[in-house]
Amino acid sequence: MVLTEDQKALQESARRFARERLLPDYQKREKLGVLDRDLLREMGRLGLIGVDLPERLGGLGADAVTTGIIAEELAYGDFNVSAVPVGVSLNAAILIRHAQPAVVEEWVPRMIRGEAVVAICLTEPRGGSDASNLQLRARRDGDHYIINGEKTSITFADRADAYLIFARTGRPEDGAKGVSAFFIPAETPGIQRTHFDDVGSAIIGRGSVFFDDVKVPASHRLGDEGKGFTQVMQGFDYSRALIALQCCGAAQASLDEAWAYAQEREAFGRPIGQFQGVSFPLAEGESHIAAVRQLSYHALALRDAGQPHTAEAAMVKWMGPKTAFDVIHQCLLTFGHYGWSKDLPHQQRMRDVMGLEIGDGTAGIMKLVIARHRIGRAAVQ
Ligand SMILES: Cc1cc2nc3c(=O)[nH]c(=O)nc-3n(C[C@H](O)[C@H](O)[C@H](O)COP(=O)(O)OP(=O)(O)OC[C@H]3O[C@@H](n4cnc5c(N)ncnc54)[C@H](O)[C@@H]3O)c2cc1C
Repeated sequence: MVLTEDQKALQESARRFARERLLPDYQKREKLGVLDRDLLREMGRLGLIGVDLPERLGGLGADAVTTGIIAEELAYGDFNVSAVPVGVSLNAAILIRHAQPAVVEEWVPRMIRGEAVVAICLTEPRGGSDASNLQLRARRDGDHYIINGEKTSITFADRADAYLIFARTGRPEDGAKGVSAFFIPAETPGIQRTHFDDVGSAIIGRGSVFFDDVKVPASHRLGDEGKGFTQVMQGFDYSRALIALQCCGAAQASLDEAWAYAQEREAFGRPIGQFQGVSFPLAEGESHIAAVRQLSYHALALRDAGQPHTAEAAMVKWMGPKTAFDVIHQCLLTFGHYGWSKDLPHQQRMRDVMGLEIGDGTAGIMKLVIARHRIGRAAVQ
């Protein structure tokens, strides 16, 4: 992919920030398990959050490819921190498209400045893959809705400032057609949240959000009643390609470290990089990551050109985390016994990228999307 001068400048700025500010404390942040709000504000000041959002709201009005470049570069330094701008690009775009102007004016600039984190709540205890088959209830009550139910497995659950939720306003038998979306500030009475003890990504966290008679003004509904699911779900093609690029960034960091080590570590009287048993698996990793990267940027370029990219986004969404996991694993092995230590970042990167083999849709569901793209609803079963 050939970058424009503007893209190169932003890439350079994100790269410097990722390598100087993020990478040195990647593991320290994970041990603390805290989302560093000062760091997010610093990223906001540097223009690294919401680059694709309109300038009038604080963004740079950049394209999807540029947003992908930032996601990849930041993930090189800290996979979990890079999830924040990806979430902002997804959620703020939903607000801009579907929320009342007052909600947009109040929240989107704060998100771009790194001052507000919004969680997107779709999954429920009964399941996430069959996403439209949800039960959390929103009952109309005059000019309000009353929300009751539980969302679970929600990224940022206990640290979000607001929630973008999907609730059933119609009958269960109406499926996706009976679902509406709402925007709910976290301090709204009746909300409780929990925190899960996860395999990775501790700083962004995951948990359940409980809604107990939560009163939401009708003006906080996103899109039309009963159309929230179909309208809002469209943004996921975008975040899927961005997630794949996050995975490429994390894998590239491990690859770079493994190549460096292969040149300095000696065995049998020579640098281990001279053994094809060491260098070829890394060369394969470079190849696989380059392929996922190019397809991810292709999906984003299609998006920028206003062309369909659902299948491409689904392809990289399943390949990205899996390929990155395998490549990082190989890098860990390159370090021999040192790789097995938590002092090195490879084990953490493996755990972090693995989460996205499930989050935002599993490989099984992505393959279903691709199959549907080829043979239509015949591929549903
Ligand atoms: C790190 C992480 C972050 C997450 N963040 C969020 C978030 O912010 N917001 C949110 O709403 N949710 C979030 N989730 C939840 C995630 O979207 C769901 O876990 C996911 O959609 C799968 O749903 P499930 O776990 O209920 O699995 P199930 O739907 O119960 O599926 C179980 C298994 O069956 C497979 N399966 C199910 N149906 C099919 C089929 N038709 N064909 C093939 N295989 C199938 C699945 O692939 C999976 O392997 C997150 C999850 C993780 C791990």
